[in-house]
Amino acid sequence: MIPFNKPPYVGKEEQYMKEAIGSRKISGDGNFTRRCQDWLENAAGTDKALLTTSATAALEMSALLCDIKPGDEVIMPSYTFVSTANAFVLRGASIVFVDIRPDTMNIDEKLIEEAVTKKTKAIVPVHYAGVSCEMDTIMDIAARHDLKVIEDAAQGCYATYKGKMLGSIGHLGCYSFHETKNYSMGEGGALLINQEGLTDMAEIIREKGTNRNQFFRGEVDKYSWVERGSSYLPSELNAAYLWAQLEMAGKINDMRLNAWKRYNNGLQELETQGDIELPFVPSECEHNGHMFYLKVKDLETRTRLLAYLKENGIYAVFHYVPLHSSEGGRKYGRFFGEDRYTTKESNRLIRLPMYYGLTASEIDYIIDTVRRFFIS
Ligand SMILES: *Cc1c(COP(=O)(O)O)cnc(C)c1O
Repeated sequence: MIPFNKPPYVGKEEQYMKEAIGSRKISGDGNFTRRCQDWLENAAGTDKALLTTSATAALEMSALLCDIKPGDEVIMPSYTFVSTANAFVLRGASIVFVDIRPDTMNIDEKLIEEAVTKKTKAIVPVHYAGVSCEMDTIMDIAARHDLKVIEDAAQGCYATYKGKMLGSIGHLGCYSFHETKNYSMGEGGALLINQEGLTDMAEIIREKGTNRNQFFRGEVDKYSWVERGSSYLPSELNAAYLWAQLEMAGKINDMRLNAWKRYNNGLQELETQGDIELPFVPSECEHNGHMFYLKVKDLETRTRLLAYLKENGIYAVFHYVPLHSSEGGRKYGRFFGEDRYTTKESNRLIRLPMYYGLTASEIDYIIDTVRRFFIS
């Protein structure tokens, strides 16, 4: 049996978690959190990274930081995880879903400007599979309409656009370190703050609305409630697990890219024959091997292929049910213009197993099984 995912594990996790326990500091913002945040700030070339309890939490913090209010509109793709939308709906915003590009499955940057209204406050590009959205275009639209850009880079840690790490390009960027992502801490994430002047408020929001961080740095003489906030910081135990992974980030990334290339080469022939479509990576994007997907002709073929893979011991999956067609999406958002690609393309996409430690022979077996499906 080849599972769809295995949580990344590199070997030093227990040692670091024991160190955290031994240090008698297991709540948040200890040495391991600091090391992870320093690493992220260096890698992304940004001033401030804050570990959070999830990407969902980082997105919720972003909505608070951008002061999203009832009646505001937020633009994003419908082909994404529910948290991308929920974080803004929690603040009373209504979501405007814009169609995706069929080649990258990312929001179609050419459709965004038409969807902007007087109520629009933010754009949330989602970097699907760690392949960047067309960020120059998106940042340009945002500048001209005075909008905030919050990157949902949950899948994008270590991937780049024109040499810049995803999550470091918009005003704010959100990573996930869930067990299904390239680097993990069980449940966790990070918020990158790329715009000046937001860091103090971000620290306050993350620490229950208090100025506790400033107090510990000696900048204020007592700590108290100053603003809206919640508890968005993870424990040191989780940060210790993540630190083991970040130390090995380059190796994890190489391994995933090798697996991705092996899939891509092995399935090329089927693409040439017109049986499947393989992922497209624009030349200005370096991805991180987060995901390997392929697209088949239609929903019926996908259902049969998934069943065939399962019969052969391979757990492949599909996602997402487009948000605009779900109950929550109909309640809290609307689709802008025509749904040319979101539903159609999501119906024919399959994600193949991809995780740290997936072997070449397992990949070859999966490629072979997909080939046999199309011969029979
Ligand atoms: C995984 C994911 C999230 C949520 O991440 P959590 O850390 O589980 O909250 C949000 N958006 C996208 C695009 C994701 O892939």
